Amino acid sequence: MSDDNCVFCKIVGGELEAEILRDEDGVLAFRDINGRAPVHVLVIPKEHVSSLAGIGKVPDGVTKRIFEVAQDVAESEGIAKSGYAFRINNGPDAGQEVFHLHAHVMGGERVRMP
Ligand code: AMP
Repeated sequence: MSDDNCVFCKIVGGELEAEILRDEDGVLAFRDINGRAPVHVLVIPKEHVSSLAGIGKVPDGVTKRIFEVAQDVAESEGIAKSGYAFRINNGPDAGQEVFHLHAHVMGGERVRMP
């Protein structure tokens, strides 16, 4: 299912442009529109799930692929060896802005919490 008001569902559906790096069954990776590191990519399940609260609805294979695609993207972007942050902001106190589950892949410089 997709959510008509969700910006990431619009990217999945092709209604909104993004720089897509990986497009495969169940998983999409695209560059963050407001990159806050030399490499800043988002990896998402294509199915709409607002946050980790809905992780139970994401098929196990898709969840695993999110991790694998993050590593693949890090390799192709040249940051796998130097390291990168794989981060999910979950809910208001983490500053989640887009309520479609997504993992940030950030690197190319020293990336620290928060
Ligand atoms: P979060 O704070 O974890 O919810 O992060 C949401 C991220 O989505 C932010 O880093 C935004 O810059 C990014 N973002 C929002 N709209 C778009 C878009 N249309 N294309 C790519 N990235 C986006």
